[in-house]
Amino acid sequence: MEEAQGVKPKKKAFCSICNQRKPALKRPKTLDQICRECFYAVFEDEIHRVIVDNQLFKPGERVAIGASGGKDSTVLAYVLSELNRRHNYGLDLFLLSVDEGITGYRDDSLETVKRNEIQYGLPLKVVSYKDLYGWTMDEIVKLIGLKNNCTFCGVFRRQALDRGAALLKVDKLATGHNADDIAETVLLNILRGDIARLSRCTSITTGEDGPIPRCKPFKYTYEKEIVMYAYFKRLDYFSTECIYSPNAYRGFAREFIKDLERMRPRAILDIIRSGENFRISTSTKMPEQGTCERCGYISSQKWCKACVLLEGLNRGLPKLGINRSRGLNSDHTKDVKRSNGTKNIESKQCGTLDF
Ligand code: SF4
Ligand code: ZN
Repeated sequence: MEEAQGVKPKKKAFCSICNQRKPALKRPKTLDQICRECFYAVFEDEIHRVIVDNQLFKPGERVAIGASGGKDSTVLAYVLSELNRRHNYGLDLFLLSVDEGITGYRDDSLETVKRNEIQYGLPLKVVSYKDLYGWTMDEIVKLIGLKNNCTFCGVFRRQALDRGAALLKVDKLATGHNADDIAETVLLNILRGDIARLSRCTSITTGEDGPIPRCKPFKYTYEKEIVMYAYFKRLDYFSTECIYSPNAYRGFAREFIKDLERMRPRAILDIIRSGENFRISTSTKMPEQGTCERCGYISSQKWCKACVLLEGLNRGLPKLGINRSRGLNSDHTKDVKRSNGTKNIESKQCGTLDF
């Protein structure tokens, strides 16, 4: 049997779950030595439990899976379609991709998603920045350089996913954020002193007051296990980083979490638990939700964040809306106001972008 890279189980032991077959891997989450079949079973069952316990879906719902072609969303598409069949969730599943217009990166990863569409029999919808906003990320980077590009990209992506989801008329959007991503976001919010975001970044479902709620079925799933699962199942995914990824700060946070995990695998779950247990005083007034006067998208200000950024681009003033959006301002009320009520880009920003 093949072994997962770098994981060498002792030869003679039996799988600690079935006690019958030889172990093929050391499970990253528990360090148990288990066979491949048992790994598939625990991996899938844990996700099923998370879905059921948190009531992520209701029978008959239409659900879009945010699909980037990366490992997380590919495994999510595969596992969700399996579980949907096996446990009769009664869901209509779709793949939803965003084409940011990044040559040499997104065009290639979209080819992967198109293959997934056929492999899993899930209808695919692609929405592009060019169609929605009139700009590709290539054009934006040409204009503004490699600073703040991810702010544009993140704001546009959030809205693009919502618009794609509306076109598909889905009830929910499921994203491939995994436990490592969430732990990383908890840590980053602590490092930034952003207590308001800290308390909501661990929510398994968000945006219930918005047009289309989003959920994270992989909230407790370890990245290493997703990689192993994709590897053993030979799933077809794309693993190149975005060519415009700045990545430095987030990258350090990621490395730090990986170091902790090496010493104590539970560390990832513990960080998530810490984030969940933070409570902020609720005296802070949250902005009222309205709609953008320009595009009709949900916004607490006259114009939504994407329209402000777009106006800057179209007027040749790309800094418009950048500094106002999320200063290193610790005054939360101001920050919420300034960000037009747009939630922070909780999706990875971006490295091996997978939304
Ligand atoms: Fe967009 Fe991610 Fe690339 Fe930044 S790293 S430009 S957010 S795809
Ligand atoms: Zn076994």
